Amino acid sequence: ETVINRIAAGEVIQRPANAIKEMIENSLDAKATNIQVTVKNGGLKSIQIQDNGTGIRKEDFEIVCERFTTSKLTEFEDLSKIATYGFRGEALASISHVAHLTIQSKTINDKCAYKASFVDGKLKQGPTAIAGNQGTLINVEDLFYNMSVRRSALKSGAEEYQKVSEVVGKYAIHNVAVGFGLKKFGDHNDIRTPPNSNYIDNIRTIYGNLIARELINFNVDNDVYKFKAHGYMTNVNYSTKKFNFLLFINHRLVDCHGLKKCIDQVYATYLPKNMHPFVYLSLEIDSKNIDVNVHPTKHEVHFLNEDQIIEALTSAIETKLLGSNN
Ligand code: ADP
Ligand code: MG
Repeated sequence: ETVINRIAAGEVIQRPANAIKEMIENSLDAKATNIQVTVKNGGLKSIQIQDNGTGIRKEDFEIVCERFTTSKLTEFEDLSKIATYGFRGEALASISHVAHLTIQSKTINDKCAYKASFVDGKLKQGPTAIAGNQGTLINVEDLFYNMSVRRSALKSGAEEYQKVSEVVGKYAIHNVAVGFGLKKFGDHNDIRTPPNSNYIDNIRTIYGNLIARELINFNVDNDVYKFKAHGYMTNVNYSTKKFNFLLFINHRLVDCHGLKKCIDQVYATYLPKNMHPFVYLSLEIDSKNIDVNVHPTKHEVHFLNEDQIIEALTSAIETKLLGSNN
């Protein structure tokens, strides 16, 4: 049973960056306005996430790492929404199967914080009373300590740090109200965005001024296919070899190759050969139109009327691009 759980957990948690993505989403769900990520060896040795969100009640520590246990079900009347948002109660359970997991948390109503450690989906020690601020501090140590093949496949801490930094940077840009920090243990922050920031400042902080000074804002509100989109994209004065495409659908960082390709094609007419733009796009569609058969940990998504929505988005982007090019 433990081995099967471990294999399943290894499907959900593949590397430090996606463990961190899951935990950032939990912090955002808990309404945190500050999220600090600290890693050792790119997160392979340790990951620490501190937030100032609503916290976990002492009595919930018992079940927080049980598979398919979530505190978020009651907020949603619609099963498809639950699946879409990945509210399946799998992230912490999975982490506890493939790493040493410690959680410390304090709610606004508790006088002190509580700390507990977890193994294989179960509470191992605690919760013990401890001094602490409101919010949650999660410690993940020795990722894949019990999966030697997986562990040795991820050998470079520097490479993992690069992926962690991409994820944290993208969430930092998208969540303008929330302050984000990322650092290596014992070091200064490599990423630091303040709470109540704005998109352009955040993009400048993460991607630099060469991009930030060439941004065009766009907004699309489509009644026919019932979607809303907003974002920032570079004008024709900027181009780079790698297409930086930040896509959030309903506030989750995802991939959509079809959309990415079409936007790149729009730019191809205006940019030098083999050069690409920077595009940050936040798309909101009715969650019942997202393909719920795609497991939430799979980043590639599909949605109803995909071709029509992509068409509407790319033509809106082209119009904006043309408007900025005269
Ligand atoms: P899910 O997010 O799908 O509910 P998770 O395994 O990611 O499942 O988290 C399990 C539960 O643990 C959440 O439903 C939530 O109640 C609690 N939790 C996890 N992280 C936090 C956090 N940072 N702040 C408050 N509660 C949290
Ligand atoms: Mg979660």
